[in-house]
Amino acid sequence: DSLSHQAAVAQPEPSLQDHYPGSLFVVAAPSGAGKSSLVKALLELDTRVHPTVSHTTRGPRGQEKHGREYFFISSDEFDAMVANDAFIEWANVHGNRYGTAKKAVEDRIAQGADVVLEIDFQGAMQVKKIFANAVLIFILPPSLEELRARLERRGEDKLDVIDLRMRNACIEMAQAENFDYVIINEVFERAVFDLKSVVHSQRLRYPAQQRARADVFNALGIVAKG
Ligand code: GDP
Ligand code: ADP
Ligand code: 5GP
Repeated sequence: DSLSHQAAVAQPEPSLQDHYPGSLFVVAAPSGAGKSSLVKALLELDTRVHPTVSHTTRGPRGQEKHGREYFFISSDEFDAMVANDAFIEWANVHGNRYGTAKKAVEDRIAQGADVVLEIDFQGAMQVKKIFANAVLIFILPPSLEELRARLERRGEDKLDVIDLRMRNACIEMAQAENFDYVIINEVFERAVFDLKSVVHSQRLRYPAQQRARADVFNALGIVAKG
């Protein structure tokens, strides 16, 4: 009946989720497409964008440091965080669990900072459900051959892990259609420019400009609609 239908579609209380002043960027890609390299380049070029450090049950690779690339935690610790509702999203990726802590994101975007999440597509879909304004960006490699070559050149994963990541790549890339933007990481500098352009375009959106350039809006007598 109509009442139960209404209940089913009722929206949660208006909260941070629709009205946060910062932008939330979510970058996903199959492993090896260049997501980390591109986000690192973006962060170096744009100090207004902040990364978050995910939690993972995967062990650290060579130079990785706890609290820098990831918080490396045990499966029990991960379970406890899930039980405490500490994650915005979490997912099982290539046999390990990964999650984004709520605290890392909510405080920042509420203060008006831009945040970029480097997470897998399952997590990206969860984030979009919670933060409808999140900007979803998918990074594609120029070809499967190049993707494998990059994973091999990176030299961080054993062959069986590379094989697993290649098998998962096609499943992941089929999800690109659910994203707002697609960047093909062929020539690295070009892809960095594309990523910067997406970030820049968000800052030109009406509400963002109105907040950032309230002086101009006021001087021009443009009154915010109630
Ligand atoms: P922000 O988003 O406000 O930090 O601004 P950006 O740093 O993204 O861009 C500043 C200006 O430089 C804008 O007018 C951009 O269109 C332009 N711009 C940004 N990146 C590039 C680039 O790689 N090449 C060129 N030619 N222009 C760029
Ligand atoms: P991801 O974070 O998506 O797993 P990485 O950023 O670690 O991927 O990139 C995988 C490997 O490919 C790294 O060794 C990186 O230096 C290399 N790489 C990234 N982008 C390019 C590119 N455009 N051309 C060639 N190699 C690239
Ligand atoms: P890697 O082990 O190569 O660092 O990451 C493997 C995959 O896990 C990548 O696709 C990466 O984006 C994803 N990942 C990293 N952190 C998170 C996270 O917090 N949440 C989700 N859902 N995926 C993550």
